[in-house]
Amino acid sequence: MPNARTAADRVPREEVLVRAAWVLTVGPGGEIEDGAVHVRDGRIVEVGGYRELRGRLPGLPVEGDGTGLLIPGLVNTHTHLSEALATGMGSELTLFEWGERIVGPLGSVLTAEDAREGTRLRAVEMLLSGVTTVNDMFVHGNPDDLASVGVVAGLEEASLRGVVSFGAEDAAIPGAPPWADVDRVMAEQDALAQACAAAELVSFRYGIGTLLGQSDALLEAGADVCRDRGWAVHTHLAEVREELVAAAQRWGRRTIPHALALGLFDRPLIAGHGVWVTEADIEILAAHEVAIAHNPVANMILGSGVCPVPRLRSAGISVGIGTDGAASNDGQDMLQAVKAAALLQKVHALDPSVIDAPTVLRMATLDGARALGLDHLVGSLEPGKRADLVLLQDSVCVSVLHDPCGQLVYGASPRAVRSVWVDGRRVVADHACTTVDEAEQIARSRALAARLAQASGLHESGFSRLGST
Ligand SMILES: [Zn+2]
Repeated sequence: MPNARTAADRVPREEVLVRAAWVLTVGPGGEIEDGAVHVRDGRIVEVGGYRELRGRLPGLPVEGDGTGLLIPGLVNTHTHLSEALATGMGSELTLFEWGERIVGPLGSVLTAEDAREGTRLRAVEMLLSGVTTVNDMFVHGNPDDLASVGVVAGLEEASLRGVVSFGAEDAAIPGAPPWADVDRVMAEQDALAQACAAAELVSFRYGIGTLLGQSDALLEAGADVCRDRGWAVHTHLAEVREELVAAAQRWGRRTIPHALALGLFDRPLIAGHGVWVTEADIEILAAHEVAIAHNPVANMILGSGVCPVPRLRSAGISVGIGTDGAASNDGQDMLQAVKAAALLQKVHALDPSVIDAPTVLRMATLDGARALGLDHLVGSLEPGKRADLVLLQDSVCVSVLHDPCGQLVYGASPRAVRSVWVDGRRVVADHACTTVDEAEQIARSRALAARLAQASGLHESGFSRLGST
């Protein structure tokens, strides 16, 4: 197992001209036919027509044969790498049932090694579906291990840009004794913040698994520490109706007004879902720096509901797209989430014009970056931004481009992801991940998944067929 950062260091930043039939900049450059992007020292130097750039830079290596699409790296605004090794269980359960029967037992045995290895595994899947930035919330309840810290090493080794949080829940099961006290949770938040500060591509957010999953003491301590330390927040809000009922019983109000009263909206905050929001909730979100991560595939699998994306956007709220965790998706294919984001709105409104492809691509890139406070660095192909790019070609699914953006949103699949750069490093080349050996990682992860199934009791309870040997 290599030390953190060595894998990324083995892939040097390159100077290259990347060429495609269409460059979708999601920035002031618009859509450029036969376009190219000049990458140097980890940054985008220029974006423009291929012939003009090539004429001025004749000696530069060129990647791309002039077909297909070049887009900004996709921003996966919400996932749980704690579920990296737990796909395909309990797909017929509601969120609350699934949390209690799958995520709880799994989280009680997760270690930092599981976190690191699972992150490396899902980083491959994300990179191969065009993701260059991921916003993770690692949820666990293992008192013996600062498990979330392992995510940082995994992301650095894969050279995937990330924002990492520890989704602490000390009161996840009502009536059960908490697995940790406030000090224990804060010690892990600190350790994770320090690991992120030492990393090149990873930054930190304070995680609150869910408001209902935390004791009042931890919620209050969290609001205080975020104010004192200037930390931004990652949580879930208004995901399912049961959440609102339980919040009303516990606090006499919905989760969004309760988060406001706690002071959680005093800092930038991104929340997964925002499905069950009222007009009063929307007013609160819009008046603060609160962004929503929309997770259409997970919302459909769990039967949670439909996020009112057009309404949130019209209120000026930043809405990004996320896969959600690998256990409620059941994968990390961002291109699938992008397509589902469009389809779900159309079928819900019974109106195919309710959202268009450029809007969905923008949500998956620039708006997602803005939702994470990273739009000055990534999210569009503009000179000066970090070189996070995805080249799609060599596949039938991007071969006929009557409408390049529409083809990307409705027709592209990971099969077409030929090259990916993160911070100017080519982390996918010729359709293969260069930072993590995919076959080796799959083999190693199988054994870890079997151990987790056994140790968590998920094999015994019938949810997993792994772990019998
Ligand atoms: Zn989530």
